[in-house]
Amino acid sequence: MFDSDHPDIVASMNDPTSPAANPALRTDLTETDLRERLSAEQFIVTQQAGTEPAFTGAFWDKKDAGIYRCVVCEMPLFSSDTKYESGSGWPSFFEALDPEKVTLIEDRSHGMSRTEAVCAHCGAHLGHVFQDGPRPTGQRFCMNSASLDFLAE
Ligand SMILES: [Zn+2]
Repeated sequence: MFDSDHPDIVASMNDPTSPAANPALRTDLTETDLRERLSAEQFIVTQQAGTEPAFTGAFWDKKDAGIYRCVVCEMPLFSSDTKYESGSGWPSFFEALDPEKVTLIEDRSHGMSRTEAVCAHCGAHLGHVFQDGPRPTGQRFCMNSASLDFLAE
């Protein structure tokens, strides 16, 4: 069921019932469509669970008011109201716009135990969630700029 060209996807998806682990639920677009629509970096991050280098993305230090959407399916995922300066070099939020729109998956790849965040609608990899965020949630949604687009308010 997995494309053997994408070992990162296999390694990061341990729950076979999650949307992200089921390519049929991920998106209506074929891989060819996605490669045409997305930049190479956006494709690697969202489809192969890649991570952009810190302090290189478009949004890590963006402070404008607006909504951050999934770059693949345009689902609104985060608000600038919950964005904060984490110092990590990645756009960081203390909560999702709607918890049902971001699916959390246990990720044991790369010898670590982390919580992966994927778009609940299309399964795009977004980043990871850590428990060292600010009040009121204590969570840090550490996202890749390459997984998001921005709609100014
Ligand atoms: Zn999506």
